[in-house]
Amino acid sequence: MSQRVHNFSAGPCTLPLSVLEEGQAEFVNYHDSGMSLIEMSHRGKHFVSIHDEAVDLVRSVYGVPDEFDVLFLQGGATLQFAMVPMNLLGAGRKGGYVNSGTWAKGALTDAGFYGEAYSAWDGSACGFSRMPSSNEIEIKPDTRYLHITSNETIGGVRFADWPEVDVPMIGDMSSDYMSRRIPWERFDLVYGGAQKNLGPAGMAMVIIRKSVAQDCNQDIGRYLRYDIQADKGSMFNTPPVFPIYMVGKVLKWMRDVGGIDVIERMANEKAADLYQAIDSSEGFYRCPVEEASRSVMNVVFRLPSEDLEKTFITEASEAGLLNLKGHRSVGGIRASIYNAMPADGVRALTDFMAAFRSSHS
Ligand SMILES: *Cc1c(COP(=O)(O)O)cnc(C)c1O
Repeated sequence: MSQRVHNFSAGPCTLPLSVLEEGQAEFVNYHDSGMSLIEMSHRGKHFVSIHDEAVDLVRSVYGVPDEFDVLFLQGGATLQFAMVPMNLLGAGRKGGYVNSGTWAKGALTDAGFYGEAYSAWDGSACGFSRMPSSNEIEIKPDTRYLHITSNETIGGVRFADWPEVDVPMIGDMSSDYMSRRIPWERFDLVYGGAQKNLGPAGMAMVIIRKSVAQDCNQDIGRYLRYDIQADKGSMFNTPPVFPIYMVGKVLKWMRDVGGIDVIERMANEKAADLYQAIDSSEGFYRCPVEEASRSVMNVVFRLPSEDLEKTFITEASEAGLLNLKGHRSVGGIRASIYNAMPADGVRALTDFMAAFRSSHS
Protein backbone atom coordinates (compact mmCIF):
# COMPACT_ATOMS: atom_id res chain seq x y z
CA MET A 1 0.00 0.00 0.00
CA SER A 2 1.82 3.08 -1.21
CA GLN A 3 -0.57 5.65 0.19
CA ARG A 4 -3.14 5.96 2.94
CA VAL A 5 -6.69 4.80 2.31
CA HIS A 6 -9.95 6.37 3.40
CA ASN A 7 -10.50 4.39 6.58
CA PHE A 8 -14.10 4.31 7.83
CA SER A 9 -13.39 1.84 10.64
CA ALA A 10 -15.53 2.14 13.78
CA GLY A 11 -12.54 1.72 16.08
CA PRO A 12 -9.64 1.62 16.28
CA CYS A 13 -9.93 4.06 13.47
CA THR A 14 -8.29 6.78 11.43
CA LEU A 15 -6.07 9.28 13.28
CA PRO A 16 -4.58 12.55 12.02
CA LEU A 17 -1.62 11.82 9.75
CA SER A 18 0.43 14.59 11.36
CA VAL A 19 0.01 12.89 14.74
CA LEU A 20 1.23 9.54 13.39
CA GLU A 21 4.21 11.16 11.72
CA GLU A 22 5.20 13.09 14.82
CA GLY A 23 4.99 9.94 16.93
CA GLN A 24 7.12 8.13 14.36
CA ALA A 25 9.78 10.85 14.32
CA GLU A 26 10.07 10.83 18.11
CA PHE A 27 9.68 7.13 18.70
CA VAL A 28 13.25 5.85 19.00
CA ASN A 29 14.90 8.83 20.67
CA TYR A 30 12.45 10.97 22.59
CA HIS A 31 13.56 14.62 22.76
CA ASP A 32 17.28 13.67 22.73
CA SER A 33 16.91 11.52 25.83
CA GLY A 34 18.55 8.58 24.07
CA MET A 35 15.47 6.49 24.90
CA SER A 36 12.06 5.82 23.50
CA LEU A 37 9.18 7.17 25.49
CA ILE A 38 8.05 3.58 26.06
CA GLU A 39 11.41 2.74 27.66
CA MET A 40 11.17 5.39 30.37
CA SER A 41 9.90 5.44 33.91
CA HIS A 42 6.39 6.78 34.17
CA ARG A 43 7.61 8.79 37.17
CA GLY A 44 10.42 10.48 35.26
CA LYS A 45 10.30 14.09 34.13
CA HIS A 46 9.56 13.37 30.47
CA PHE A 47 6.51 11.26 31.09
CA VAL A 48 5.20 13.35 33.97
CA SER A 49 5.19 16.40 31.73
CA ILE A 50 3.48 14.45 28.91
CA HIS A 51 0.80 13.33 31.36
CA ASP A 52 0.25 16.76 32.89
CA GLU A 53 0.09 18.42 29.51
CA ALA A 54 -2.49 15.89 28.30
CA VAL A 55 -4.68 16.58 31.32
CA ASP A 56 -4.37 20.34 30.78
CA LEU A 57 -5.29 19.95 27.12
CA VAL A 58 -8.36 17.86 27.94
CA ARG A 59 -9.45 20.60 30.34
CA SER A 60 -8.87 23.48 27.96
CA VAL A 61 -10.12 21.88 24.73
CA TYR A 62 -13.19 20.22 26.29
CA GLY A 63 -14.00 23.02 28.75
CA VAL A 64 -13.84 20.68 31.76
CA PRO A 65 -14.73 22.58 34.94
CA ASP A 66 -12.31 22.61 37.90
CA GLU A 67 -14.68 20.43 39.95
CA PHE A 68 -13.73 17.42 37.81
CA ASP A 69 -10.70 15.15 37.76
CA VAL A 70 -9.36 13.74 34.48
CA LEU A 71 -8.18 10.11 34.75
CA PHE A 72 -6.45 7.88 32.23
CA LEU A 73 -7.22 4.27 33.11
CA GLN A 74 -6.68 0.89 31.55
CA GLY A 75 -9.43 -1.55 30.62
CA GLY A 76 -11.14 0.58 27.99
CA ALA A 77 -14.74 1.70 28.23
CA THR A 78 -15.79 -1.83 29.09
CA LEU A 79 -14.09 -1.78 32.48
CA GLN A 80 -16.07 1.38 33.25
CA PHE A 81 -19.28 -0.61 32.74
CA ALA A 82 -18.25 -2.41 35.96
CA MET A 83 -16.30 0.33 37.76
CA VAL A 84 -19.19 2.79 37.73
CA PRO A 85 -21.63 0.54 39.63
CA MET A 86 -18.85 -0.92 41.85
CA ASN A 87 -18.03 2.58 43.04
CA LEU A 88 -21.44 4.19 43.09
CA LEU A 89 -24.20 1.65 43.73
CA GLY A 90 -25.10 0.00 47.01
CA ALA A 91 -27.94 -0.22 49.52
CA GLY A 92 -30.61 2.32 48.64
CA ARG A 93 -28.81 3.46 45.46
CA LYS A 94 -30.10 2.26 42.10
CA GLY A 95 -28.65 2.81 38.65
CA GLY A 96 -31.05 3.81 35.86
CA TYR A 97 -29.94 2.95 32.33
CA VAL A 98 -31.19 4.22 29.00
CA ASN A 99 -31.17 1.06 26.89
CA SER A 100 -30.35 2.56 23.52
CA GLY A 101 -28.56 -0.39 21.93
CA THR A 102 -25.67 -2.81 22.14
CA TRP A 103 -23.34 -0.74 24.28
CA ALA A 104 -25.97 0.52 26.69
CA LYS A 105 -27.13 -3.06 27.18
CA GLY A 106 -23.57 -4.07 28.07
CA ALA A 107 -23.36 -1.34 30.70
CA LEU A 108 -26.73 -2.36 32.18
CA THR A 109 -25.75 -6.03 32.29
CA ASP A 110 -22.54 -5.34 34.19
CA ALA A 111 -24.24 -2.98 36.63
CA GLY A 112 -26.59 -5.81 37.60
CA PHE A 113 -23.64 -7.73 39.06
CA TYR A 114 -22.90 -4.98 41.57
CA GLY A 115 -26.21 -3.41 42.51
CA GLU A 116 -29.77 -2.71 41.52
CA ALA A 117 -29.83 -1.54 37.94
CA TYR A 118 -32.90 -1.02 35.78
CA SER A 119 -33.81 0.08 32.30
CA ALA A 120 -35.19 3.62 32.45
CA TRP A 121 -36.13 3.51 28.77
CA ASP A 122 -36.04 0.59 26.40
CA GLY A 123 -35.36 1.15 22.72
CA SER A 124 -35.94 -2.45 21.71
CA ALA A 125 -39.62 -1.73 20.93
CA CYS A 126 -38.58 0.67 18.14
CA GLY A 127 -35.65 -1.46 16.97
CA PHE A 128 -33.21 1.03 18.55
CA SER A 129 -34.01 3.51 15.79
CA ARG A 130 -34.06 6.57 18.04
CA MET A 131 -33.12 8.03 21.43
CA PRO A 132 -35.80 8.93 24.00
CA SER A 133 -36.92 12.44 24.84
CA SER A 134 -36.41 13.45 28.48
CA ASN A 135 -40.05 12.87 29.40
CA GLU A 136 -39.90 9.25 28.21
CA ILE A 137 -37.14 8.40 30.68
CA GLU A 138 -38.58 6.88 33.85
CA ILE A 139 -36.51 7.44 36.95
CA LYS A 140 -37.36 5.25 39.96
CA PRO A 141 -37.05 6.43 43.58
CA ASP A 142 -33.55 6.10 45.13
CA THR A 143 -31.82 6.37 41.78
CA ARG A 144 -28.17 7.35 42.22
CA TYR A 145 -27.56 8.12 38.53
CA LEU A 146 -28.93 7.83 35.03
CA HIS A 147 -26.49 6.16 32.65
CA ILE A 148 -26.66 7.19 29.01
CA THR A 149 -24.71 6.22 25.92
CA SER A 150 -24.32 9.51 24.10
CA ASN A 151 -23.75 7.80 20.75
CA GLU A 152 -24.52 4.16 19.96
CA THR A 153 -21.64 3.18 17.71
CA ILE A 154 -23.33 0.12 16.19
CA GLY A 155 -26.87 1.43 15.74
CA GLY A 156 -25.78 4.90 14.60
CA VAL A 157 -28.12 6.59 17.10
CA ARG A 158 -27.20 9.58 19.26
CA PHE A 159 -28.64 12.01 21.75
CA ALA A 160 -28.83 15.25 19.80
CA ASP A 161 -30.26 16.99 22.89
CA TRP A 162 -28.91 15.97 26.27
CA PRO A 163 -31.54 14.54 28.62
CA GLU A 164 -32.81 16.70 31.44
CA VAL A 165 -33.56 14.55 34.46
CA ASP A 166 -33.64 15.02 38.23
CA VAL A 167 -30.63 12.81 38.95
CA PRO A 168 -26.97 13.20 37.93
CA MET A 169 -25.99 11.52 34.68
CA ILE A 170 -23.14 9.17 33.81
CA GLY A 171 -22.21 9.16 30.13
CA ASP A 172 -20.49 6.55 28.00
CA MET A 173 -19.12 8.94 25.40
CA SER A 174 -16.77 6.46 23.72
CA SER A 175 -17.77 7.15 20.15
CA ASP A 176 -18.43 10.87 20.26
CA TYR A 177 -15.97 11.96 22.93
CA MET A 178 -14.73 15.50 22.42
CA SER A 179 -16.78 16.01 19.26
CA ARG A 180 -19.16 18.53 20.84
CA ARG A 181 -19.65 20.52 24.02
CA ILE A 182 -21.42 18.83 26.88
CA PRO A 183 -23.44 20.28 29.80
CA TRP A 184 -21.05 19.41 32.61
CA GLU A 185 -23.48 20.49 35.31
CA ARG A 186 -25.73 17.51 34.48
CA PHE A 187 -22.98 14.90 34.76
CA ASP A 188 -21.21 13.20 37.66
CA LEU A 189 -18.92 11.22 35.38
CA VAL A 190 -18.23 10.70 31.70
CA TYR A 191 -16.00 8.06 30.18
CA GLY A 192 -14.92 6.55 26.92
CA GLY A 193 -12.34 4.30 25.34
CA ALA A 194 -9.58 6.25 23.60
CA GLN A 195 -9.62 4.40 20.30
CA LYS A 196 -12.36 6.33 18.51
CA ASN A 197 -11.83 10.07 18.76
CA LEU A 198 -8.79 10.28 21.01
CA GLY A 199 -5.95 7.97 20.03
CA PRO A 200 -4.78 4.36 20.19
CA ALA A 201 -6.57 1.58 22.06
CA GLY A 202 -5.46 0.66 25.55
CA MET A 203 -7.08 3.18 27.83
CA ALA A 204 -10.24 4.92 28.91
CA MET A 205 -10.50 8.58 29.76
CA VAL A 206 -12.69 9.14 32.81
CA ILE A 207 -13.77 12.63 33.81
CA ILE A 208 -15.29 12.50 37.27
CA ARG A 209 -16.71 15.10 39.61
CA LYS A 210 -14.21 15.38 42.48
CA SER A 211 -16.86 15.14 45.19
CA VAL A 212 -18.16 11.93 43.57
CA ALA A 213 -14.72 10.36 43.38
CA GLN A 214 -14.18 11.07 47.06
CA ASP A 215 -17.51 9.51 48.02
CA CYS A 216 -17.19 6.16 46.28
CA ASN A 217 -17.34 2.65 47.75
CA GLN A 218 -14.08 1.56 49.38
CA ASP A 219 -14.58 -2.19 49.61
CA ILE A 220 -13.29 -2.95 46.13
CA GLY A 221 -9.86 -3.65 44.65
CA ARG A 222 -7.72 -0.54 44.91
CA TYR A 223 -7.11 -0.13 41.18
CA LEU A 224 -10.87 0.03 40.73
CA ARG A 225 -11.45 2.89 43.21
CA TYR A 226 -12.00 6.31 41.68
CA ASP A 227 -10.83 8.07 44.85
CA ILE A 228 -7.43 6.33 44.76
CA GLN A 229 -7.03 6.90 41.01
CA ALA A 230 -7.91 10.57 41.47
CA ASP A 231 -5.59 11.05 44.47
CA LYS A 232 -2.71 9.41 42.57
CA GLY A 233 -3.34 11.28 39.31
CA SER A 234 -3.81 8.03 37.34
CA MET A 235 -0.43 6.79 38.68
CA PHE A 236 -1.57 4.31 41.30
CA ASN A 237 0.18 1.76 39.09
CA THR A 238 1.93 2.05 35.74
CA PRO A 239 -0.44 4.02 33.54
CA PRO A 240 -0.95 3.34 29.81
CA VAL A 241 2.03 5.48 28.84
CA PHE A 242 1.91 5.11 25.07
CA PRO A 243 -1.82 5.83 24.70
CA ILE A 244 -1.51 8.86 27.00
CA TYR A 245 1.37 10.16 24.88
CA MET A 246 -0.53 9.72 21.62
CA VAL A 247 -3.76 11.15 23.03
CA GLY A 248 -1.76 14.23 24.03
CA LYS A 249 -0.76 14.65 20.38
CA VAL A 250 -4.34 14.24 19.18
CA LEU A 251 -5.45 16.86 21.73
CA LYS A 252 -2.84 19.30 20.40
CA TRP A 253 -4.13 18.61 16.90
CA MET A 254 -7.67 19.37 18.09
CA ARG A 255 -6.52 22.60 19.67
CA ASP A 256 -4.62 23.61 16.54
CA VAL A 257 -7.52 23.01 14.14
CA GLY A 258 -9.53 25.47 16.22
CA GLY A 259 -10.86 23.61 19.25
CA ILE A 260 -14.11 21.90 20.09
CA ASP A 261 -16.45 24.32 18.33
CA VAL A 262 -14.60 23.95 15.04
CA ILE A 263 -14.46 20.17 15.49
CA GLU A 264 -18.21 20.12 16.14
CA ARG A 265 -18.98 22.25 13.10
CA MET A 266 -16.81 20.06 10.85
CA ALA A 267 -18.49 16.93 12.24
CA ASN A 268 -21.94 18.33 11.54
CA GLU A 269 -20.95 19.30 8.00
CA LYS A 270 -19.43 15.90 7.21
CA ALA A 271 -22.48 14.08 8.56
CA ALA A 272 -24.90 16.40 6.74
CA ASP A 273 -23.13 15.69 3.42
CA LEU A 274 -23.36 11.96 3.97
CA TYR A 275 -27.02 11.96 5.05
CA GLN A 276 -27.79 14.20 2.08
CA ALA A 277 -26.26 11.58 -0.22
CA ILE A 278 -28.49 8.96 1.41
CA ASP A 279 -31.69 11.01 1.48
CA SER A 280 -31.39 12.28 -2.08
CA SER A 281 -30.91 8.79 -3.54
CA GLU A 282 -34.64 8.16 -4.19
CA GLY A 283 -34.68 5.25 -1.79
CA PHE A 284 -31.60 3.46 -3.14
CA TYR A 285 -29.78 4.21 0.11
CA ARG A 286 -31.88 4.16 3.26
CA CYS A 287 -30.96 5.16 6.82
CA PRO A 288 -32.91 3.14 9.44
CA VAL A 289 -32.44 5.79 12.15
CA GLU A 290 -35.04 8.48 12.83
CA GLU A 291 -33.78 11.81 11.60
CA ALA A 292 -33.57 13.58 14.97
CA SER A 293 -31.43 10.79 16.46
CA ARG A 294 -29.00 10.25 13.59
CA SER A 295 -25.40 9.87 14.66
CA VAL A 296 -22.85 12.41 13.52
CA MET A 297 -20.02 9.90 14.02
CA ASN A 298 -21.36 6.54 12.76
CA VAL A 299 -23.58 6.83 9.71
CA VAL A 300 -25.48 3.60 9.03
CA PHE A 301 -27.44 2.82 5.89
CA ARG A 302 -28.89 0.01 3.82
CA LEU A 303 -29.06 -0.77 0.11
CA PRO A 304 -31.96 -2.45 -1.73
CA SER A 305 -30.55 -5.96 -1.05
CA GLU A 306 -27.86 -7.70 0.96
CA ASP A 307 -26.24 -8.81 -2.29
CA LEU A 308 -25.91 -5.21 -3.39
CA GLU A 309 -24.48 -4.32 0.02
CA LYS A 310 -21.76 -6.96 -0.49
CA THR A 311 -20.98 -5.60 -3.93
CA PHE A 312 -20.92 -2.06 -2.52
CA ILE A 313 -18.36 -3.03 0.14
CA THR A 314 -16.17 -4.86 -2.38
CA GLU A 315 -16.19 -2.11 -4.97
CA ALA A 316 -15.68 0.57 -2.31
CA SER A 317 -12.56 -1.14 -1.00
CA GLU A 318 -11.23 -1.44 -4.55
CA ALA A 319 -11.69 2.33 -4.73
CA GLY A 320 -9.68 2.86 -1.51
CA LEU A 321 -12.70 3.26 0.80
CA LEU A 322 -12.20 0.72 3.57
CA ASN A 323 -14.05 -0.76 6.54
CA LEU A 324 -17.57 0.19 5.49
CA LYS A 325 -19.18 -3.08 6.53
CA GLY A 326 -21.84 -2.64 9.22
CA HIS A 327 -21.39 -4.40 12.56
CA ARG A 328 -22.00 -8.14 12.20
CA SER A 329 -24.97 -7.96 14.59
CA VAL A 330 -26.95 -5.57 12.35
CA GLY A 331 -25.46 -5.84 8.83
CA GLY A 332 -25.73 -3.07 6.27
CA ILE A 333 -23.19 -0.31 5.77
CA ARG A 334 -21.58 1.83 8.45
CA ALA A 335 -19.33 4.77 7.72
CA SER A 336 -17.55 5.97 10.84
CA ILE A 337 -16.50 9.58 10.36
CA TYR A 338 -14.80 10.53 13.60
CA ASN A 339 -12.97 13.80 14.26
CA ALA A 340 -9.88 12.77 12.29
CA MET A 341 -11.79 11.78 9.12
CA PRO A 342 -11.09 14.60 6.67
CA ALA A 343 -13.92 16.15 4.64
CA ASP A 344 -12.11 14.78 1.57
CA GLY A 345 -12.72 11.25 2.81
CA VAL A 346 -16.46 11.90 3.10
CA ARG A 347 -16.50 13.50 -0.35
CA ALA A 348 -14.75 10.46 -1.81
CA LEU A 349 -17.46 8.31 -0.25
CA THR A 350 -20.40 10.41 -1.47
CA ASP A 351 -18.88 10.50 -4.99
CA PHE A 352 -18.52 6.73 -4.88
CA MET A 353 -22.12 6.34 -3.66
CA ALA A 354 -23.45 8.41 -6.55
CA ALA A 355 -21.44 6.43 -9.11
CA PHE A 356 -22.41 3.10 -7.54
CA ARG A 357 -26.07 4.00 -7.58
CA SER A 358 -26.08 4.95 -11.25
CA SER A 359 -24.33 1.75 -12.27
CA HIS A 360 -26.50 -0.54 -10.09
CA SER A 361 -30.05 0.83 -10.25
C1 LIG B 1 -16.24 1.04 21.49
C2 LIG B 1 -17.25 1.30 22.54
C3 LIG B 1 -17.19 0.69 23.80
C4 LIG B 1 -16.14 -0.34 24.16
O1 LIG B 1 -14.93 0.25 24.26
P1 LIG B 1 -13.63 -0.59 24.76
O2 LIG B 1 -12.63 0.49 24.96
O3 LIG B 1 -13.31 -1.54 23.67
O4 LIG B 1 -13.98 -1.27 26.01
C5 LIG B 1 -18.14 1.02 24.74
N1 LIG B 1 -19.13 1.90 24.46
C6 LIG B 1 -19.22 2.49 23.25
C7 LIG B 1 -20.31 3.47 23.00
C8 LIG B 1 -18.29 2.20 22.26
O5 LIG B 1 -18.38 2.80 21.06
